[in-house]
Amino acid sequence: MTTLIYTHDACLEHQPGPHHPESPERLHAITDHLLSTGVMQYLVPYEAPAATEEQLGRAHTALHVRTMVANSPLEGYLHLDPDTLMCPASLAAARHAAGAAVLATDIVLRGEVARAFCAVRPPGHHATRDAAMGFCIFNNVAVGIRHALDVHGLERVALVDFDVHHGNGSEDILAGDERVLMVSTFQRGLYPFLGETALAPNMANVPLEAGATGAALRESFESVWKPRIEAFRPQMIFVSAGFDAHRADDMAGLRWVEEDYAWITQRIVEMAERHCQGRVVSCLEGGYHLFHLARSVAAHMRALAGL
Ligand SMILES: [Zn+2]
Repeated sequence: MTTLIYTHDACLEHQPGPHHPESPERLHAITDHLLSTGVMQYLVPYEAPAATEEQLGRAHTALHVRTMVANSPLEGYLHLDPDTLMCPASLAAARHAAGAAVLATDIVLRGEVARAFCAVRPPGHHATRDAAMGFCIFNNVAVGIRHALDVHGLERVALVDFDVHHGNGSEDILAGDERVLMVSTFQRGLYPFLGETALAPNMANVPLEAGATGAALRESFESVWKPRIEAFRPQMIFVSAGFDAHRADDMAGLRWVEEDYAWITQRIVEMAERHCQGRVVSCLEGGYHLFHLARSVAAHMRALAGL
């Protein structure tokens, strides 16, 4: 069994500003740890192509795509929102981050491998149809999902989002699209202060209280995610894999640990094996404590690769 890992050097060049938590060091920490622990030898590294405007346009308005392309700065920074900056290298990084999800989807649906992880930045799940926000420029996972639906003709795709922040951009793009079921957990009362009330019946949002441990994740899975996904019978599962619910991550106040990421990934793989030949495409979202981000991603990768 082979699991692919997608990234592109362009993703290392995106600088969102000095002292920004969403730094290139995140990808360096992940790669170093996968190499030093030997997990990388079970993965096949793959270079991510840049997403085309047509591919981006399946999740975003043409205006948003064109605005990002036209406004990409030649020097210095462009402020998209108070936390989201573009440098001259950011547009290429964002296009390769979304392109990773597209190619991963192609290769998994061609049956060449069952699972793929996109180790990319900038992250994507806060980017809405028509706006960049929350460190995100394009919604990588939503671009991959729409590619699976519109290009490959899948009829049912599930999205699991376990980032500590609500994936409001994914919800904005996918709410009401009956071909998609999105299940998510996130910390209540945290940025982006959305998700308390789901926008459409195809959204299963589970807000968790600050301080919640991995027990709350397990309870959410058993009581909400699992029955919804089992009933939906997805033909493919996408994951918005954020690791900022880790107890060491000071971006938020949940208290998960590496074992929780291993556990939820094993459950996702089991459901994929039951319904869709094990097909999973996972995209990196948040996770800002470098030491535990790297170890949490490794736990996720071991479970994806069945190690
Ligand atoms: Zn997050």
